[in-house]
Amino acid sequence: MHIEPNFSPRIRNDQPPMLPRKTCAFCGSVFVSQNECESCGRQFNKETLGAPGGEKSFYATKDRYKKDVGSFLARFDQFLAKDAGMRVRYLSLLKKRYMTLLDHFQRPGRGALSCHAYLVEFRDLVSEMKRMKISPEYMYDLVELGEGMPLTHKLQTILNEEFAGYGSAGLKKLMRWRVAGGPRFGFLSALVLGPSAICLIALTIFSYLVKR
Ligand SMILES: [Zn+2]
Repeated sequence: MHIEPNFSPRIRNDQPPMLPRKTCAFCGSVFVSQNECESCGRQFNKETLGAPGGEKSFYATKDRYKKDVGSFLARFDQFLAKDAGMRVRYLSLLKKRYMTLLDHFQRPGRGALSCHAYLVEFRDLVSEMKRMKISPEYMYDLVELGEGMPLTHKLQTILNEEFAGYGSAGLKKLMRWRVAGGPRFGFLSALVLGPSAICLIALTIFSYLVKR
């Protein structure tokens, strides 16, 4: 039997062919543009990586920032207002570079040897992000998005070294542990402990008043 393809003429003539929907390979979001995932901020454009230590590297960004702020202020930039334009811009550039490096590392077939120069940059970048008070949660979360990729463990080790025991200390590990894959234990305990602390204080004051 000969089977004709069952296309309705209207669809064939008026509608463009269905394009496969582009999604972010890292977080699965469909909100992606040509160069960037709007959900997790990953850059797809390979041009952003640049040569090790080159114009696009963290080192060049830091040099430009120091020049903009002035060498004196750069030494005391932790006293810059949180919303100071230069500081905000620098923080977003650091985060962007962090994402670009992760994007480079967390691909199949990457090895510590071939990525050595960028791993050195990664370590220096993490240390600068720490100095600029970017939360370790942010850094760990993005690394963990690439779970199972060859360099992910190496990146976690670098973070652990930088945040000395952040990932291994029992309490912090517990706080970061996700309850049933959902909210972090730390978040839940804050929800529960917050009100109970208030109750405890109220009770203490009450019993004090009663005793008088
Ligand atoms: Zn994404």
